[in-house]
Amino acid sequence: MIKKNILDFSYDELVKEFTNLNLKKFRVDQVLDWIFKKHIFDFFEMTNISKNEREFLDEYFYISIPEPIDIQESKIDGTTKFLWKLEDGRTIESVLLFYPNRISACISSQVGCPLKCKFCSTGASGFERNLTPGEIVAQVLAIEKLKDVNINNIVLMGMGEPLLNYDNVLKAIRNWNNKKMKNLGARRITISTSGIADKIEELADFELDIRLSVSLHAPNNYIRDQIMPINAKYPIEEVVQSCKIYQEKTKNRVTIEYIAIKGLNDEEKHAQELADLLKGLKVMVNIIPVNPNPANYERPSKKFLNSFLNKLKENNIEATLRIEKGTDIDAACGQLKMRKKGVK
Ligand code: SAH
Ligand code: SF4
Repeated sequence: MIKKNILDFSYDELVKEFTNLNLKKFRVDQVLDWIFKKHIFDFFEMTNISKNEREFLDEYFYISIPEPIDIQESKIDGTTKFLWKLEDGRTIESVLLFYPNRISACISSQVGCPLKCKFCSTGASGFERNLTPGEIVAQVLAIEKLKDVNINNIVLMGMGEPLLNYDNVLKAIRNWNNKKMKNLGARRITISTSGIADKIEELADFELDIRLSVSLHAPNNYIRDQIMPINAKYPIEEVVQSCKIYQEKTKNRVTIEYIAIKGLNDEEKHAQELADLLKGLKVMVNIIPVNPNPANYERPSKKFLNSFLNKLKENNIEATLRIEKGTDIDAACGQLKMRKKGVK
């Protein structure tokens, strides 16, 4: 018989699975408590469950946790990057980040990414497949166990486009949020998207009040076309329009990510154009000087970054220059990339 990965199920599905096997409902809660609170991933160590039932559980289920094949820790700020091996041997990365008020995990949603943004290492690595709900959830469990931390903030900003793996990502989020599982407040979970407009609209009806971050990176189609091929399918106005619909329904402020690239999108006139584009939308703009990237784009000078920032502020748009973490281990955004099995 093929065993099923417990982490792929929602709470209700798991109750059904257990009931069908004549296991009591409270066994579900016990097993989840071992997994999510105590980080025990082996039924035989779940000592408040009878030995017979542990054996029974082990016949039908398993708990799939990725295997760490490389861990790099920043000497500057403790940021830690994990390279995981999945059951099928494919690899993904996650990052653990420490802030004064939160411990955050940057989680992958796909193996690689099909969208091929020019500035992104994941995009350059190509696309292999979607992650299962369990593979998304388990990245957090694996980090917590290895580093003995309680992650209280999750951003889907690792490898992949979360809204192209919509159902699995939402299932993972429901599980992180579930009281019997990770019990993490929805507002502490962020989806970052390259702007899949129809899915952003769909997300507005999601029952959980998560946060949304949109990777715009340009003030117009002319520039966005040059760096993000997905703009051909969802042009910038459609992306902004979907954010408006999202905001009307959720009342949430949307974060706009804007990678600043020297000579491409970093002038004051671009900031003004961006401000005009975002008119009527309650946003927070994160300006990120581009990190090392496959296209060899360069960072603008401090002077350009500051005048860009000031221009946005003049237009009453909240904006910040993002502080990078883990720069000594290439853990920053867009630096996560697939490597061959076990090879660094
Ligand atoms: N696919 C989603 C989420 C993963 S990428 C998205 O695109 O939003 C996470 C973030 O890293 C995105 O904002 C992306 O634009 C950014 N990023 C990618 N490459 C980067 C680079 N070279 N420098 C700075 N940020 C980068
Ligand atoms: Fe994919 Fe996001 Fe990278 Fe673009 S920036 S290639 S959408 S992971």
